[in-house]
Amino acid sequence: MVERINKSDLYDHFARLSQQTQDLVANMKRLQEEVNAVLEENAELSIENEHLQQLVSQQAAKEAATTGGESGKLTPSRENLKKLYQRGFHVCNEYFGKRLDEGESCTFCLDTIYGDHSLGAPKGGDR
Ligand SMILES: [Zn+2]
Repeated sequence: MVERINKSDLYDHFARLSQQTQDLVANMKRLQEEVNAVLEENAELSIENEHLQQLVSQQAAKEAATTGGESGKLTPSRENLKKLYQRGFHVCNEYFGKRLDEGESCTFCLDTIYGDHSLGAPKGGDR
């Protein structure tokens, strides 16, 4: 196929081929750089992801530790009061044992069940 091409044609052909090769090399370089950038980003994201997962599990452990001891769980006696209240009975000092109306809620009861009673035994029954 190349036999009958004259010198100038041959030169043109070579120049064109040479240019194409250079373009190809340039493209491959660019592609390589893009691949490198993507791999780099991927590595950074993996590290960041790992870091965030550690933070999340630390935070979850911390929360479990604090709620588990305090507000998360009621003492057995309060748990019983809560059950009574959920069945529709007052558990507060004011109305203990009386029925709540349908859908009624009592702040005294809620305070008795969930309130902070660290000041000792609840007052009441003075009369
Ligand atoms: Zn009540």
